[in-house]
Amino acid sequence: MSQDPSNCSPIELLDHLVAFDTTSHKTNVSLIEFVADYLASFGVEVRMIPNQAGDKINLCATIGPKDAQGGIGLSGHTDVVPVDGQEWQTDPFRLTARDGRLYGRGAADMKGYLACVLASVPMFVSRQLSRPIHLFFSYDEEIGCVGVRPMIEQLGKALPMPEIVFVGEPTAMGVVDAHKGPARWAVSVTGRAVHSSMAHLGVNAVHAASELIGELRRMEEELRQTIRDARFDPPYSTLQVTTIEGGAANNIIPRSCCFGFEVRALHSLDVTAISRRLQDYADANCLPPMRAIAEEAAIAIELVNWVPPFAATTGSAAVALALRLAGDNHTEAVSYTTEAGLFQSAGAAAVVCGPGHIAQAHTANEWIAEEELHRCMAFLERLADWSK
Ligand SMILES: [Zn+2]
Repeated sequence: MSQDPSNCSPIELLDHLVAFDTTSHKTNVSLIEFVADYLASFGVEVRMIPNQAGDKINLCATIGPKDAQGGIGLSGHTDVVPVDGQEWQTDPFRLTARDGRLYGRGAADMKGYLACVLASVPMFVSRQLSRPIHLFFSYDEEIGCVGVRPMIEQLGKALPMPEIVFVGEPTAMGVVDAHKGPARWAVSVTGRAVHSSMAHLGVNAVHAASELIGELRRMEEELRQTIRDARFDPPYSTLQVTTIEGGAANNIIPRSCCFGFEVRALHSLDVTAISRRLQDYADANCLPPMRAIAEEAAIAIELVNWVPPFAATTGSAAVALALRLAGDNHTEAVSYTTEAGLFQSAGAAAVVCGPGHIAQAHTANEWIAEEELHRCMAFLERLADWSK
């Protein structure tokens, strides 16, 4: 099949991509199949990396010399956050153009970038690239950068290892060379339930949880005071209790209490020290009095998700190239998270640069300016020139 060039404009492609409801808890297979067909129409070979259930797929494709080492990876996630509970003035899964803005779920985060990359494919294919350009499209980014990990594991094995990876999260085409990394834990406290008139025979799990939370608050304050990096806003690692659930009724001593907490860590923070300290505190201060009454009393602290913070290495080739292509001379550090730290851990030099503003990401009436797509297209054209 050959493509009608009008089907390859970034707006036309964004219109297609937004129409696939790829909210993280749903499948992304239809979107990936659309992308695969589109790439195949330009003779680009596609590799699919499905999850075990087969309802989510990572896609990897290479344009240019197949045997060449390195090259540039263009990375983006295909999933979007839910629209539940948000007041949209337009259908979130239909791209709507108004006053130079394009509205739709994922328009900024980050289907706008995917649309620009796909729209650039005919241009990439028409050039005699001496350095390959690899596309890495992932799933389940929005639930903790989970989906991209099996694809990254295969870099340098079944999949090519790029020298540089551009992660196209919305930075308004600014060059982001550092971000924080979230670590998330689930804490589960088990006590013993008794009638509240016999409180001395029970173990109150909510009370024990509140002591643990008190210790976390002290750690939060210490983080605020100690490790600081003025490039970030706020300039320290944050620690917050994010969810809590416990107890069954007003006249029962609660047997269980579960809560979650998150650290948004600066690069220099050892996050494992946080949970170790909480466990030590539990062992020393909470569990002995609990177990004196009920031997089944327990406190379990489990790391449920961790995305490494990202800090480009000094003199990073990725940062230098992004600055050159963006015509920029300064970098930024941000507090949100991307897949860049994971690519960097695998051995690729990463940098974050993409169209649209993070302020519009995840919101009702999410939009991207058409102008941002044009700026990204120009960036990708300069990349093709550089890759010749
Ligand atoms: Zn994103």
